[in-house]
Amino acid sequence: MEPLEKARILIVDDEKMNLKVLADLLKEEYAPVLARSGEEALQHAFGDSPPDLILLDVVMPQLGGYEVIKQLKNDDRTKNIPVIFVTALSSVEDEEHGLKLGAVDYITKPYSPPIVKIRIRNHLRLVHHYKLLDQLAYLDGLTVIPNRRRFEEVFQKEWARSARNGTSFSLAMVDVDFFKQYNDHFGHAMGDDALQKIAKALEGGLKRPGDLVARYGGEEFVMVLPETDAAAAKVVAERALRNVAELNLAHPYSQVASHLSVSIGLVTTIYMDKKTLPQTFLKTADQNLYLAKHNGRNQIVSSMIYDWSMMSIG
Ligand code: GH3
Ligand code: MG
Ligand code: MG
Repeated sequence: MEPLEKARILIVDDEKMNLKVLADLLKEEYAPVLARSGEEALQHAFGDSPPDLILLDVVMPQLGGYEVIKQLKNDDRTKNIPVIFVTALSSVEDEEHGLKLGAVDYITKPYSPPIVKIRIRNHLRLVHHYKLLDQLAYLDGLTVIPNRRRFEEVFQKEWARSARNGTSFSLAMVDVDFFKQYNDHFGHAMGDDALQKIAKALEGGLKRPGDLVARYGGEEFVMVLPETDAAAAKVVAERALRNVAELNLAHPYSQVASHLSVSIGLVTTIYMDKKTLPQTFLKTADQNLYLAKHNGRNQIVSSMIYDWSMMSIG
C-alpha cells in the first residue's frame, strides 16, 4: 500500500444495492472495487492489483463467502489480505464459523455505517504495521540493506530456480580488509559509518533486478547473482572492488592500500543437479575469500563448480 494511494477495498455481494451502499460509504476515503459474485471476487484478489481488504458477503449463488475465504487463505498471494464478513447471518454459530475460517471481523446487517468505517480503518492500520514489521525483519539495522535472514531465503529460492532451469549461478563473499585496525584507530562509530558506506557502494554496483547484496555479519557481505556466468560475475566483483576503493576512506593502518579495501571470494556453477548442495557452494566462496586474503587482500579469487550430470551428450 503506497502511503499516498487510497487503499483498495474489494466489496463482494450478489445484491447490487448492498454494493452501492457500501461503495458510497467508503469511496471518499478508499478506492472501492466491486464484485457481484464469489468468482468475480477471486479474479480481483488474484489479479494484478489485489485489494488491501475485502468485505465479503456469505450467502451468494454458486461460490459463497465461506468457500471464497477458504481459497484466499489457502494461497500465499492472498492469505494476508484481511477479510471482513458483512452478512445477514447473525447467529453466534455463523459468526464463530466465519472467524474460524480466518476472517478478521464479522459484521452483521443491519450495520452502523460509522462503525463499519472505524473497523475497516483499524484493520487497515494493523496490516500497514504488519507490513512494516515484516520489512524490518529482513533489513540489517546498521546498513539498512537486506540482512542474513533475507539472504538465506533468496539464496535458497534462487538456487532451486537455477537448478530447475540449469542456468549458471554466482555468489560472492565480500570481507573488509584490516577492519579491526580501522576500528582500533578511528573508533567504532567511524567503523560503523564506513560499513554503511561500503554497503551502499556494493549495492550501487548491482544492476540486475534479481541481484542481491546482504550483510552476512560483522564486516562481511554476500552477493547473490542469479543467472550470472563466471565472466559476468567477475565484472560485478571488479566493480565492487572499485566502488569501495572509490569511497576513498583513508586507512593508514591497512597493509594493502591507503584506503579501506575489500577481498572477494567468488564462485560460479553451471549445470547443477540436486547433488551440488548450496552449502558446498557457499563454502567454496568462503575458501576463495580465504585465498584472496592469503594472497594479499584487495583482490578477487574465483572458481567454478561444474556438474556435468545435467548435460545430455550426443
Ligand atoms: P582481514 O583483512 O583478515 O579481514 O582482517 P580484519 O581485521 O578485517 O578481520 P577481523 O575478523 O580480525 O576483524 C573484523 C573486525 O570487524 C573486528 C570487529 O570489531 C569489526 N566489526 C565487525 N562488525 C562490526 C560493526 O558492526 N561495526 C564496527 N564498527 N566494526 C565491526
Ligand atoms: Mg575483515
Ligand atoms: Mg571477517
